[in-house]
Amino acid sequence: MNAPIYLDYAATTPVDSRVADIMSRYLTQDGTFANPASRSHMPGWLAEQAVEGARRQVADLIGADPREIVWTSGATEADNLALIGFMRANRDKGRHLVTSTTEHKAVVDTARVLEAEGFDVTWLTPGRDGRVTPSQLADALRDDTVLISLMAVNNELGSIHDLPALAEVAHAHGAAVHVDAAQGAGKIDLDVATMGIDLMSLSAHKVYGPKGIGALYVRRHPDIRLEALIHGGGHERGMRSGTLPTHQIVGMGEAFGLATRELANDRAHTQALCSRFLDGLGELDGLYRNTDTRVAVPNIVNLAFEDVDGESLLMALRRLAISTGSACNSASVEPSYVLKEIGVPRRRALSSLRFSFGRFTTQDDIDTAVDELRQAVNALRQ
Ligand SMILES: *Cc1c(COP(=O)(O)O)cnc(C)c1O
Repeated sequence: MNAPIYLDYAATTPVDSRVADIMSRYLTQDGTFANPASRSHMPGWLAEQAVEGARRQVADLIGADPREIVWTSGATEADNLALIGFMRANRDKGRHLVTSTTEHKAVVDTARVLEAEGFDVTWLTPGRDGRVTPSQLADALRDDTVLISLMAVNNELGSIHDLPALAEVAHAHGAAVHVDAAQGAGKIDLDVATMGIDLMSLSAHKVYGPKGIGALYVRRHPDIRLEALIHGGGHERGMRSGTLPTHQIVGMGEAFGLATRELANDRAHTQALCSRFLDGLGELDGLYRNTDTRVAVPNIVNLAFEDVDGESLLMALRRLAISTGSACNSASVEPSYVLKEIGVPRRRALSSLRFSFGRFTTQDDIDTAVDELRQAVNALRQ
């Protein structure tokens, strides 16, 4: 069988070899393996120095101060810490949170936990383009709203929220702004100062870094208060205890350093690939774009192939590593909740696939994917 063609960069990316090279220097006896919290010897200081260098690289990508970066195990933990940590720490000010129905499960499920704890959550339904509008947000805000949580880029659609406009509305009401930027980092320009963001979740493995490491940006001026979820030792200014994984952290730092330098290149590259892909599929009958490409990143495109079952298409496209976005239970296949929430009819949602491209995707990959798709769709329709 021919080598698989990986078009699932929104699920995870391969680690850039420049990142892997650096990580390997922080593991073994001849490397910088010491505990970065060890203050009594040189190996510990060197590990701490490496961690602080990486903290600056991550901060630089989003225009933050390194002291505002808290290491976590990924964006899932960062989302949990942002939502639960903020709501609990600010419960005397208000108990109302506003978010949307198409957030990543790391936000959706966490907001449900808060509801069960007695907090109030308003769930906004985005429009057909996948975005919540500033006026929709304004209508949902109340005197007791303390936090809003909206993602930078949707992981199934690629749609980009107008964060500066949304943050302005939230701040005018005195609410803080959390952004899950797992799919935004390295894809769109992010600047926490000019965008007015108070908390931002980041992940390394969507940006050519390793899995199992992420960060939460926590604004210092004005000071954002969080209640810790993980206790023991008071690392990370008391917000997240636990021995820092130096190799993971330098990997995330290097990946974010590369993202800062290569964002424009990466974007131009995926833009060219996306155009080639959509042009290639051009005249295919019954092709429908779930992604509104006018307001989306070029590295994610969600397409429906009408009258073709998505799961069957996935099976026919064995060479392509892609995703339906739907959740399979043992008995039934449920269409993606994101497609459902933006109003894609059930039948069309079940015919949908998400294609996502990245730094190492080639034009040949795209051309092969187009050929295979055309053949499979035509075969399944017969
Ligand atoms: C991948 C992803 C997450 C989860 O990140 P992990 O680092 O894997 O925990 C959260 N939010 C969005 C939007 C994602 O795409």
